[in-house]
Amino acid sequence: MNYKHALTSPIFQVVSKSADELGVDCYVVGGFVRDFVLERGREKDIDIVAIGSGIELAKRVAKNLPNSPKVQVFKTYGTAMIRHEGVELEFVGARKESYNEDSRNPIVEDGTLEEDQNRRDFTINAMAISLNSATYGQLLDPFDGLQDLTDKCIKTPLDPAITYSDDPLRMLRAIRFATQLDFEIEAASFNAIKEQSHRIEIITKERINVEIQKILESKKPSIGFILLEESGLLQRIIPELTDLKGVDIQEGQKHKDNFYHTLEVVDNICNHTDNMWLRWAALLHDIGKAPTKRFSKKVGWTFHGHELKGSKMVYHLFKRLKMPLNDKMKYVQKLVFMSSRPIVLAQENITDSAVRRLVFDAGEFVEDLMTLCEADITTKNPYKFKKYHNNFKLVREKIIEVEERDQVRDFQPPISGEKIMETFDLKPSKEIGIIKEFIKEAILEGIIPNEPEKAFELMLKKGTDLGLTRADEK
Ligand code: ATP
Ligand code: MG
Repeated sequence: MNYKHALTSPIFQVVSKSADELGVDCYVVGGFVRDFVLERGREKDIDIVAIGSGIELAKRVAKNLPNSPKVQVFKTYGTAMIRHEGVELEFVGARKESYNEDSRNPIVEDGTLEEDQNRRDFTINAMAISLNSATYGQLLDPFDGLQDLTDKCIKTPLDPAITYSDDPLRMLRAIRFATQLDFEIEAASFNAIKEQSHRIEIITKERINVEIQKILESKKPSIGFILLEESGLLQRIIPELTDLKGVDIQEGQKHKDNFYHTLEVVDNICNHTDNMWLRWAALLHDIGKAPTKRFSKKVGWTFHGHELKGSKMVYHLFKRLKMPLNDKMKYVQKLVFMSSRPIVLAQENITDSAVRRLVFDAGEFVEDLMTLCEADITTKNPYKFKKYHNNFKLVREKIIEVEERDQVRDFQPPISGEKIMETFDLKPSKEIGIIKEFIKEAILEGIIPNEPEKAFELMLKKGTDLGLTRADEK
């Protein structure tokens, strides 16, 4: 079969010419071919395999390109990379791999194209298109990856038990591709993943993270998290999530399954944001519910303080997964901590002061918090669903209104401590804090607008109540 029409980018002509000059066979393989067939429209990274030295081929390609781009050589891996017009071209020599039990780093030898295709993870990733002029565009698809693309099926070229055991990262890649492409993992493959799930322990956290991140970037991450759970992998990677699974019943009272609820929230939020950290917040917003779950005959199931507990757990989870412990983590923590706040507003009358307090506490994250809380509405009762959404719409309108008047988002006290000290001729003392707090509360409650004159009047009144005398009256 000829796939010349996949090779529209002029770069392929340059690679073709270079390979012919060197007398080596070469092919474009992997994701590029797969995504071309799937019409996923991407040419960001292109993998080229040479039957010989990938590094030499890369150097020749660079020489033949008009601007002679730099070749980045990774000697240990025998690969080379060229960046050309926003595309990353990765060159590698065809290879054969053999594995040890306790490492995912194989012993690598030069190999044929066929051996190179054998070592690839999935049939849909093992297709190659020839680039040499004599066979330009010829598709080499020994495992019928094309058929699996049509069938939306993920399976390994060789025995799945060996493929996953050799490199357990492939288990996560299988689930990640199933999520990104909305494909099924073949039963034999999924069984092998279940059996090998414990082998994920030999994979570094960084590599695990890349895959989790890609699952969370997908249109419908629940596909991936359900597969992770069913395979036993999630238990080993993010047990905080599997701990949310299940419904307990006592005295005829039950609570919802917080694992599946969480996944619904994540899918919901993906329709409204590409912000990865907001998606993480959705994934983790209820993790405090497992350790805080209690039952009492009077009130049924409770999860008191789960928001605070959850936000603390975020830190430990990020640390364990070697995720950044920076402002992104703090953002996730804050959203988890505040994740129940707007819910009260959705159920009750919305007062200005409640909204003002919400904006004051959430600060710059208030809109993201609203997006999270809207996604959190998973009730199947259409009346409640509509009511909560309408209320949140009102809250959003009120946020704008209240912001125009009082600017409490990035609250700056309208009266400074210095001004208070000066007015009452005070040394630093607790009265200053009391007055400042009193003014802030008055603004949040809507007793006075956030204006210096009004705040000044209130300061005088409060100062008098505290028994202070104005400096100019002394
Ligand atoms: P994407 O870049 O969209 O994530 P991709 O298929 O290009 O998808 P890469 O990780 O860039 O994935 O890898 C390129 C190719 O290398 C894959 O298509 C596959 O053939 C092969 N490959 C990558 N990782 C593995 C692995 N762990 N085991 C076997 N083959 C792999
Ligand atoms: Mg790739």
